[in-house]
Amino acid sequence: MSKMPVLFIGHGSPMNAIEKNEYTRNWSSIAEKIPRPKTIISFSAHWFTEGTNIMNEGYPRTVHDMYGFPKKLYEIIYDAPGSPEIAKVAKSLISKSTAYDTSWGIDHGTWSVLVHMYPDRTIPVFQISIDAYAPPEIHYTIGRELRSLRDEGVLLFGSGNIVHNLRLVDWDMKGKGFDWAYEFDDCIHEHIISKNHEKVLRYGELTDAAKLAVPTTDHFYPLFYILGASDHNDEVHVFNKSCELGSLSMTSYLLG
Ligand code: ZN
Repeated sequence: MSKMPVLFIGHGSPMNAIEKNEYTRNWSSIAEKIPRPKTIISFSAHWFTEGTNIMNEGYPRTVHDMYGFPKKLYEIIYDAPGSPEIAKVAKSLISKSTAYDTSWGIDHGTWSVLVHMYPDRTIPVFQISIDAYAPPEIHYTIGRELRSLRDEGVLLFGSGNIVHNLRLVDWDMKGKGFDWAYEFDDCIHEHIISKNHEKVLRYGELTDAAKLAVPTTDHFYPLFYILGASDHNDEVHVFNKSCELGSLSMTSYLLG
């Protein structure tokens, strides 16, 4: 079985689920380029909890965790099966204490991208939550501990945004970012390209732009799992490197 790459996607607006644009076309083409996963484990910005929780039901439901969008978005059901077996393996690999949790489902961080990558909904998928109280190293370590699953055909998939400040979103800035948004996005890009993960983990010390780019950690931390699960020989592929609506970046990384 070929080793799976790891993937971080900047998901941006939930509207991407029903739009066809350059971002979503790139998502589809990644799926065509990489080996077809046996299972997908998603680390979504939108499952931000106290502690690390793991979904283990056979058929996770779809969660429509966004407000004020067109009805069409709430009609999307991503009814792929779950994988209690791989959830159990993942739980055993993670040294931090974890809990099974069936109170959530596949949220829009996951499905707004997977509807483009795997519209057939046949690949088992489940989520592992982002522990809101754990420091960067802990998230990175979980990624490292799950790295061996790449040899079993599992796609480790992080979904968030490198720059994500909803309070400062400017709807007139389509396809554009504020200076500080580009600055932070470029800075993280440089350290991912040079595999200087220590710097990424200490992102707060890199530039003052970090305060504006990462006002809360939910959308940034999914990146740590993917960097943790990467290995030194992985090639780094960058796509959708751009900012949107002033204070979001869509920059995504495929390592493998
Ligand atoms: Zn989001």
